[in-house]
Amino acid sequence: MKNIAEIDHLLAAHPKDATCFGYCADCNEVHYLTEGNSRKYALELMAELEEHKRIDFHSQDPEPLFSTDCLWEKRGGQMFGVLECVDGAGNTVVLRAFSGQFNTRWQAEGWVPPAFDLDGYSRLMAKIEAVVQQMTDDIEACQQKADQDILKFEEAMRSSGLAAQKDYRRQRKEALKALALAKKKRRTYSQSMMSDFRDLYQLQNFKGNQRSILNVFYEDRGIPTGTGDCCAPKLIHHAARNGLTPRGLSEFYFGRVNKASTRFHKEFYPGCKNKCQPILGYMLCGL
Ligand SMILES: [Zn+2]
Ligand SMILES: [Zn+2]
Repeated sequence: MKNIAEIDHLLAAHPKDATCFGYCADCNEVHYLTEGNSRKYALELMAELEEHKRIDFHSQDPEPLFSTDCLWEKRGGQMFGVLECVDGAGNTVVLRAFSGQFNTRWQAEGWVPPAFDLDGYSRLMAKIEAVVQQMTDDIEACQQKADQDILKFEEAMRSSGLAAQKDYRRQRKEALKALALAKKKRRTYSQSMMSDFRDLYQLQNFKGNQRSILNVFYEDRGIPTGTGDCCAPKLIHHAARNGLTPRGLSEFYFGRVNKASTRFHKEFYPGCKNKCQPILGYMLCGL
């Protein structure tokens, strides 16, 4: 594997018509996709979003939270993506994705699922909630004990002899120490669970490899929150899993301009630099 400066040099020389690309450490080169015919399908998707004003077009029983109204609220719009693929028989298959969650939902009919194991996610969430609840109960018990010991010490300072004061001072100190420890334990646990969450992203590529995102993301600055949740990785992972060969990819923004004023309604954007580029080279490998 090259160093980061060499990788940046290679990435800077990517083909100008690439809509998503990234450095592949296995091949020591940049893999990419262009838009192919996907823009046409992206424009169709935009028209459907505008016409139906919801994302569960195909459902007979539309859910209110799948309305696109939320894309015009203060927090801004969202990225959508289209991947043009061919299946084993040579038929064109068009995949659609929304970035991250749509209005708190990871899944919706007619859209590819997230690139992580959703059942594993639910199981992990339930386990974490139970453990964190137990730790929170422990913190509360330690807090109560510390409060009582502080009162006892204050009382002893007023009415007891020196020996008793010393005893209560020691008790108070121990109770506060136990409280600090219980808080630290919960903090450490929450942090350690982050890598378990990351590990739910077992990314598939076109060489038939499946690797945890923890082993794919090659930069050492830490994996940014939301990595793997953009449209490009969702779409490419789904294609690789289902024997589809990608031909072209387009991602566009839909809704109210974002806070940073870098994303505009119905504009097309290439795969993002921070989250997607460090995984897309691996994901596109074997195409
Ligand atoms: Zn991205
Ligand atoms: Zn490769």
